[in-house]
Amino acid sequence: MLFSKLSEYYDRLSSIASRLSMIEVMAEIFKDASANEVRPIVYITQGVLSPSFEGIEFGMAEKMVQESVALATGVPKEEVEREYRKLGDMGLAAESIKKRSRLKRMTSDRLTIMEFYNKMLKIAETSGSGSKDAKIKLLASVMAEATPEEAKYAAKYPMDALRLGLGDATILEALSVAYCGGRESKDKLENAYNLCSDLGLVGETIAKKGISAIEKFKVTIFKPIRPALAERLPTAEQILEKMHGESAVEHKYDGFRCQIHKDGKKVKIFSRRLENTTEMFPDIVEAVINEVKVDRVILDGEALAYSEETDEFLPFQKTIQRKRKHGIKEKAIALPLHLFVFDIMLLGNKDMMDAPYIERRKALTELLKHGSILRPSTMIITTKPKELEEFFEDAIENGLEGIVAKDPQAKYVAGARKFSWIKLKRSYKGELSDTLDLVIVGYYIGKGMRSEFGFGGLLCATYNEKRDMFETISRIGSGFTEEQMVELRKTLEKVAVKEKPVRVDAVIKPDFWVYPKYVVTIKADEITRSPTHTCGRSQEKSGIETGFALRFPRLVGESAIRSDKSPEEATTTKEVSEMYKNQKRVSLKE
Ligand code: AMP
Repeated sequence: MLFSKLSEYYDRLSSIASRLSMIEVMAEIFKDASANEVRPIVYITQGVLSPSFEGIEFGMAEKMVQESVALATGVPKEEVEREYRKLGDMGLAAESIKKRSRLKRMTSDRLTIMEFYNKMLKIAETSGSGSKDAKIKLLASVMAEATPEEAKYAAKYPMDALRLGLGDATILEALSVAYCGGRESKDKLENAYNLCSDLGLVGETIAKKGISAIEKFKVTIFKPIRPALAERLPTAEQILEKMHGESAVEHKYDGFRCQIHKDGKKVKIFSRRLENTTEMFPDIVEAVINEVKVDRVILDGEALAYSEETDEFLPFQKTIQRKRKHGIKEKAIALPLHLFVFDIMLLGNKDMMDAPYIERRKALTELLKHGSILRPSTMIITTKPKELEEFFEDAIENGLEGIVAKDPQAKYVAGARKFSWIKLKRSYKGELSDTLDLVIVGYYIGKGMRSEFGFGGLLCATYNEKRDMFETISRIGSGFTEEQMVELRKTLEKVAVKEKPVRVDAVIKPDFWVYPKYVVTIKADEITRSPTHTCGRSQEKSGIETGFALRFPRLVGESAIRSDKSPEEATTTKEVSEMYKNQKRVSLKE
């Protein structure tokens, strides 16, 4: 397929306001493409060059893309900059300049998707001294040959600004429609995606080998599994009820989620967001090689700073200091980490994903019995609420966050929040026991004193997994420090869009919409119902439609934006609905 054809499809996608129509168009793209082209199409549509764990990045700042446009069109840099400021989007600026340019492409279309993608990969691979100029020239060479529409997407892609509004779930459904004739196979495709975290690979597999190959998908070493996540419930009784009377209960450590892959002497570590964090933890890598007496293994755990002297866990503020690009070795000595391992997904050649928790746990304890840096998480098995509560109190006293209860019979549920894991954190009476991670979908310009920062608050949303939509739940106007206001304004300006993004469901309008990309942590006193928001919206007896809203919402945490969470990992509408029910149950009791 020609890249110009894909650009036309993208133009169509950008003008669509319904997710169902998006699925149809995306499926059309796949049907139109050859099997070899599916993988690059998936990556380009996701706005990446390859899955995040491979860490391949363009390394092109806004100014560099601007220079490429100038070089390709013969238009002075200043004019490109002016056009960019005027239109607020580098892609639109490139398209408009290209339309006017003397050097407009005269030949008929000929850039194929493969050629386009390979050139883009080459930009990313160019490194070392002189690479800045080389990258600019490479992108300019693509633009010089491009039609205005192609130039638009060639400028947007390196800036992670494609913003087609398609989430992974939409792409999965489109693959199902294109290759299985309907949306029914989406779950199977999602399962394969959960096992390899590489949507391009899933696309290529279904295109080349069909659904039977998707059904046979297995975990692969060095391809991260999308991590299992925990649901929440407020009391020990409710947890045990949900677990059919018996539960494993583990300490909940507040550090870095580490998924460890080991093959011989080669070790890789992936974060919760599936980034490759191996370089950051040389001490853990060494410990895995020394302490794990098996050649091939995939483990799941949490690393946190621990003081041998005082025999105490150190708070997250200490552990987080290990997140750095420089001075890694020195910090590793000053703040050694322990890895509390809580799961095993591969042991030798045995896929452990479908084995019950209790069996995985046995294998894990056996494997780590000689470990000192790697240890199994502390765990009990109980049927008694009182025992669970005491274990929870013990965790809190030890400076931990709380506990995670686990269904002894459950398999490892990749990529999903299921009741096979339930977390319980310290709760404060009268307040919501947990914070919410919400997606920013808009922001407001401040009034009065705030106006000097150009920032007056956020419009935030939950993620509705079923609808693959972001539903608003709160307007947040407090809890910001001056630095945070400046940071938020600067960051959000870059993702501000004119129209409401397709996957955002809202009845109120912020001063600026923003593309759903960033997550913030919010604390509130209570969940209420309100006609202003769309989160969990339903009709009340009175006929009025109400959704969930937050009372006294405020931002928590030092840095405003949670860089470890993607919008799809935010608190879900379903979770809020559960929290609302539980909150009522608690207050009825009091
Ligand atoms: P939360 O981030 O509050 O949704 O809690 C889930 C997170 O707790 C997981 O992503 C892990 O990083 C972390 N965690 C800490 N200890 C455990 C444990 N024993 N079992 C599972 N997850 C744990």
